Amino acid sequence: MSSYCPVCNGMETLTAICPGCSGPAADFGRYNDYLGPYAPYRDIEAIGLSNGYPDVLSNRCMHVVACEGCGQNGVVAVEEIAGGEKLI
Ligand SMILES: [Zn+2]
Ligand SMILES: [Zn+2]
Repeated sequence: MSSYCPVCNGMETLTAICPGCSGPAADFGRYNDYLGPYAPYRDIEAIGLSNGYPDVLSNRCMHVVACEGCGQNGVVAVEEIAGGEKLI
């Protein structure tokens, strides 16, 4: 069974609201990629143990968002689409 993130696949645009100024926060990519140069090459289970999101990684794609207005950033869980044909 596979699942994929609609944002990573370009099917949806991630929209998040900045908790600081309520302005739009931009998607800065996958949290796993954001961790550093080693993260993309590690097993997703291994990343799950190290990034603080072990329970949600199986069907959530964690995205880093940052506000262009006030600079606040955070992590948003994007629900992945399960069981479909992967487009890419
Ligand atoms: Zn994603
Ligand atoms: Zn802001």
